[in-house]
Amino acid sequence: MGYNVAIDGPAGAGKSTIAKQVAKEKGYIYVDTGAMYRGLAIHFLNKGILPEDKLSVAEAVKDADVEIGYEGGVQQIYLNGENITARLREEAVGNMASLTSSVPEVREKLLQLQKKLAREQDVIMDGRDIGTCVLPDADVKVFLTASVETRAMRRYGELKEKGLSCDLKEIEKDIRERDERDSTREIAPLKRAEDAVLIDSSDMTIDEVAAAITALCK
Ligand code: C5P
Repeated sequence: MGYNVAIDGPAGAGKSTIAKQVAKEKGYIYVDTGAMYRGLAIHFLNKGILPEDKLSVAEAVKDADVEIGYEGGVQQIYLNGENITARLREEAVGNMASLTSSVPEVREKLLQLQKKLAREQDVIMDGRDIGTCVLPDADVKVFLTASVETRAMRRYGELKEKGLSCDLKEIEKDIRERDERDSTREIAPLKRAEDAVLIDSSDMTIDEVAAAITALCK
């Protein structure tokens, strides 16, 4: 069994930035589980499936093979053998992932892959249900959050930096909707595990959050 660090929290709390930093410092493998849901979402988009058509989503999962690999230490996602990492952050992919992650067949498929990765190596894994469902016995559990306004501002800044046009109010609305969907779904909802350390990053720098988490690890 590897040493396991679980980081959960809502969209835009800074989970992946922080997890990558801690992984580098401690020599853990970083596993971004959101990217796996996004990988399956690309499969559904490629097939022209509508997210509300849950039966077709459940059926399509059967012929999707999602694999994770590393190139120069950076996580890559392969869908049926093809490296689709470049498409993962597209807005349509994120929306599809958020809308289909409540389908039991989708979660079951990725759960096995996530558990296997954590069994075989030292990982810091981020997502929504890592401390509660995927790795209930993780050595360290963190629930990383920030106010909706802070998270929206961060996302706005990221998009602006990429030269993309965006509207702060729209981003905020989108974040609220995702939070609501992730927290109220029946299977593996986003919630803080009882034994998770709560960190609110609203008024903290990336380095401060990373240091707080590193201090919890062996
Ligand atoms: O974190 P990220 O935005 O990449 O995740 C995309 C979507 O995948 C989320 O909106 C959420 O619905 C889903 N997800 C999940 N469980 C996880 C990770 C992500 O349901 N462990």
